[in-house]
Amino acid sequence: MSRPVTVVTGGSRGIGAATCVRLARDGHDLALGYVSNSAAAEETATAVRAAGARCVVVRVDTTDEADVERLFDTATAELGPVTGLVNNAGVTGPLGRLADARTEDLRRVLEVNLLGYLLCCRRAARDMTALGSGAIVNISSAAATLGSPGEYVHYAATKAATDALTVGLSKELGPDGIRVNAVAPGIINTDIHAAMGEPDRPATTAAGTPLGRPGEPSEIAGAISWLLSADASFTTGTVVRISGGR
Ligand code: NAP
Repeated sequence: MSRPVTVVTGGSRGIGAATCVRLARDGHDLALGYVSNSAAAEETATAVRAAGARCVVVRVDTTDEADVERLFDTATAELGPVTGLVNNAGVTGPLGRLADARTEDLRRVLEVNLLGYLLCCRRAARDMTALGSGAIVNISSAAATLGSPGEYVHYAATKAATDALTVGLSKELGPDGIRVNAVAPGIINTDIHAAMGEPDRPATTAAGTPLGRPGEPSEIAGAISWLLSADASFTTGTVVRISGGR
């Protein structure tokens, strides 16, 4: 049987990087997207290839339609028809109350977390419908239901939109043999917290949760791999929460 070909956006670092390595070990070939950190992207690609997978690295800003088209075109040309998408590239902007947020930060978060996801899902839907099969995993967040007051309600809103996108698209594409699911992580140890201005956030926020610790990216990657696998063949339209009980 041919190997699945999976596109992972934001595959250079954090949850996306752990997902690329896990998928490589589980038999996928990969198109790894990143936006600016080429050194991190190449480091992850090296680990992916060491696991025996083929890997193309593509610089892509997921808010740019032409970039998204180029990502999928490159994946198809170099690896074969795309059978999986992990919609993962995301940003939060600085932490704070909505009243203090800058319009440009709100716009960027909406564009990366929502428009970017839509552009990638649209292209995946077109390719996978032609193929008659495929699986999409959208990376949501526990913030979608917590709301994240005082931190980033705009980000939480984009993640709630991700959940709605997942449910709607699963119904739209189910008859075409395409499954669409989401994973909603809680606090995970990645660079995203430093980028929002609070590097210690994983430890401080997770202290009050049932499991009392932040998660690791590898603890999300396993669920993503399962959702893309044949073991999840009857699973669609669901949001798997992986948040240490939060
Ligand atoms: P991260 O460590 O900050 O990594 C972000 C990744 O997204 C990087 O690979 C980055 O590429 C890429 N990226 C950012 N903007 C992009 C754009 N416009 N176009 C293409 N790629 C872009 O983030 P993470 O914590 O792993 O988060 C991954 C996903 O999980 C996000 O959707 C996030 O909302 C979600 N999530 C994270 C947590 C958490 O606690 N960490 C919790 C819940 C949900 P470069 O390396 O090139 O910059």
